[in-house]
Amino acid sequence: MNNARAPLEISGVKIPAGKRKKIELPIAELFDYTKMAIPVEVVRGKEPGPVLFVSAAIHGDEINGVEVIKRLLASKRINSRMKGTLIAVPIVNAYGFNRNSRYLPDRRDLNRCFPGSRKGPLGHQIAYTFMKEIVEKSTHGIDLHTGAIHRKNLPQIRACLDDEETSRLAHSFGVPVIINSNIRDGSLRQAALDKGIPMLLFEGGEALRYEEKVIKTALMGILSVMESIDMISSKKKNHAPQKKDVYTARSSYWIRAPQSGSLRLQTKLGSKIMTGELLATISDPYGSNAIRVESRKTGIVIGMTMLPLLNKGDAMFHIATFHDSEAVEERLEIFDEILDPE
Ligand SMILES: [Zn+2]
Repeated sequence: MNNARAPLEISGVKIPAGKRKKIELPIAELFDYTKMAIPVEVVRGKEPGPVLFVSAAIHGDEINGVEVIKRLLASKRINSRMKGTLIAVPIVNAYGFNRNSRYLPDRRDLNRCFPGSRKGPLGHQIAYTFMKEIVEKSTHGIDLHTGAIHRKNLPQIRACLDDEETSRLAHSFGVPVIINSNIRDGSLRQAALDKGIPMLLFEGGEALRYEEKVIKTALMGILSVMESIDMISSKKKNHAPQKKDVYTARSSYWIRAPQSGSLRLQTKLGSKIMTGELLATISDPYGSNAIRVESRKTGIVIGMTMLPLLNKGDAMFHIATFHDSEAVEERLEIFDEILDPE
């Protein structure tokens, strides 16, 4: 079925083996009858093999992945010599993307609308179409995300590691940190897993920004996964970080602002922090009433706010906890050198 040489059909368009095609997946038009569609590019190898979908901007302002997919499609390694099929979906939430917004026009979060329904609200309709036309025709999936607005994430994979194949793919991606995350209701990842399709979620960078380092990390990771499922042959000289020594977070916690004020940071993304370590100070506009923000447990900073102005209770730092944080920091340093050679 999926692996056959027979034409793959998406939204009524047939794509024969060895061919490359752009398809528009129609979704509900705007109030003024402007047509809306999810852009899809399918690249089929001559040889049968896995069918991998790679999607981005399910949250419309998480645009880093759009650039990642653009570069993936331009890669010389994506061609008819590939085994199997790549289904590239650079902009899933076309409505949000056009308004620099995470959400759909009715303020729903598309990544909470899966598996969707034909006659439900807009988000459910899109989710339904995406499941039928993309996910159910795939054998594997990767969904690209960034931190939310004003929040930046360390490049990381989130996946359900209880599933053996998902765990293997997560490790092959090549990022130093994997979060064994509990699946949230209504996410694409949950819906794909329910269909038995191993799926990874990549997180890195922040909303509404292109970040070169994160883009390169994601691109190398996708190619590395494609090698591990035998879609493309592995390069002799691989610049990707060594695939061993990947650290899996056992849990994570958020540190929230204990009072309102402006922030002076004392740590950075990827830093190892010890219990009770100073992460930031928050003070009023005169610099008085300064309060120390300290870590509660040893871990690694995997996400943090980029906005130095805080209200009490705002999320400041996302900390992952591991067996051995020391080793993780060492690994992050190596990783940094590879990506940032100067
Ligand atoms: Zn997201």
